[in-house]
Amino acid sequence: MLKGGCFCGKVRYETDGKPFNASLCHCIDCRRVASSPLVAWFSVKREALHYVDAQPKEFASSDKVLRTFCPDCGSPLTYWNADAADDIDVATCSLDDPAAVPPADHVWASRKLQWLHTDDGLPHYPEERPD
Ligand SMILES: [Zn+2]
Ligand SMILES: [Zn+2]
Repeated sequence: MLKGGCFCGKVRYETDGKPFNASLCHCIDCRRVASSPLVAWFSVKREALHYVDAQPKEFASSDKVLRTFCPDCGSPLTYWNADAADDIDVATCSLDDPAAVPPADHVWASRKLQWLHTDDGLPHYPEERPD
């Protein structure tokens, strides 16, 4: 069971889903939404993610993408894309133990900020992860 939530503790979630596609995303939307040079995500099946009490606030960051965040403290929490509707991405650093789900690659590395150095030996995909 993975548990996590936002900074202030209002929104808490649990998932018994097996994490997959753990990744570091350099895309411009993630950067802007999190005000961070990159965002670590992992996926679980959408039905496997459960909010304990309060629901996060939702907004569309593009035509097919819904993101959520805590309405009180603003922590980004999830990313959902209509093209992979059964899956949801969870911000790895919202986990109580982010070390439990280490990233396996970088996506949208073509957008990586030049001052950010990522010589971690992981694959760097220029855009989305190839199938
Ligand atoms: Zn919060
Ligand atoms: Zn992204």
